[in-house]
Amino acid sequence: MKNNFIPFNWPHMTGKELDYIKESYLKGRLAGDGPYTKRCHEWLEEHTGCNTALLTHSCTAGLEMAALLLDIQPGDEIIMPSYTFVSTANAFVLRGGVPVFVDIREETMNLDERLIEAAITPKTRAIVPVHYAGVGCEMDTIMQIAKRHDLKVVEDAAQGILASYKGRVLGSIGDLGAYSFHETKNVISGEGGALLVNDPELAHRAEIIREKGTDRSRFFRGEVEKYTWQEVGSSFLPGELIAAFLWAQLENAQTITDGRLVSWKHYHELLAFFETRELLSRPVIPEHCHHNAHMYYVLLAPHIDREKVLLELKRKKINSLFHYVPLHSSPAGKRYGRVHGTMVVTNRLSERLLRLPLWFGIEAEKQNQIIDSIGGILTRVKR
Ligand SMILES: *Cc1c(COP(=O)(O)O)cnc(C)c1O
Repeated sequence: MKNNFIPFNWPHMTGKELDYIKESYLKGRLAGDGPYTKRCHEWLEEHTGCNTALLTHSCTAGLEMAALLLDIQPGDEIIMPSYTFVSTANAFVLRGGVPVFVDIREETMNLDERLIEAAITPKTRAIVPVHYAGVGCEMDTIMQIAKRHDLKVVEDAAQGILASYKGRVLGSIGDLGAYSFHETKNVISGEGGALLVNDPELAHRAEIIREKGTDRSRFFRGEVEKYTWQEVGSSFLPGELIAAFLWAQLENAQTITDGRLVSWKHYHELLAFFETRELLSRPVIPEHCHHNAHMYYVLLAPHIDREKVLLELKRKKINSLFHYVPLHSSPAGKRYGRVHGTMVVTNRLSERLLRLPLWFGIEAEKQNQIIDSIGGILTRVKR
């Protein structure tokens, strides 16, 4: 952090990562599904209540496994928000699936559950809610719709670790859920992820798909005498060094989350003033959701020019960001997906969203400095 430059993210290390990696190194345990992977699986199963947790290379890999597990066929439709990361859609497109983009809710940027039912056709196979910023989608309604129409639910819980909806952990509510441990998330291993298998009937095939389509996991447990090719799969499991790193993080996951929540609340309090001045609006956390402070974002007022705000912040050495380019307006999204209904909220809000620097341990002083800068900029920068 030279020149007083404030980065957007600063990956938190707990200090134990290298010890655990060294242990694996000295023991010669390098391939996947070693002792650290097992510990990570147990932690995830204990803290989410899922039936089976499986580490993957990434959340992307977890979603790709989900598409294989659901046996998505060419032409099958999958309902999802357009306001999301590319992997939500890409994982299903790889199997020939067609993403059907539905608009989002203004308060949470999450899939608008009130619009889902009208988007269902005889080809619909699954709904993929994305818990944006670690704030739960309206899962009760989504699960009821899925049940009524015999659809599967895959939660993109990439940002959702240790967050919950009505007391249930994000990622553990649908048939399947996927976490990300990418460097920019709350709990990290560089690249990394996990698939949470909540439907016990999918657990056995999930293991097979993750191990190149073989029953090697059962062989390792001594349940079969040899392992053979069972069905289409790939290599989705990370090596032990990644799991060793991740274990150091999972041990501290609650501490990391609590620390982030303190910083999140500090932003939230400081920004209340700007909301009353109608310069921006702050995120809304529904009563029944516990979030995990994955992200602090604001929605700039319509008369504020976001490009100018970003530019001025850069000038002040503050690295603020925006995302996502809605998938329905991207080249691949247009080619492989289709839109159901209007995308008014997605289109409008994706142009106004600004994400503020946030990491575990960001100093309150730095946050004050960021908010001071934003305050000055907002009163100057009009369209
Ligand atoms: C980060 C993220 C992903 C991708 O996670 P990887 O682990 O990098 O594959 C997918 N969906 C959402 C919503 C994300 O935020």
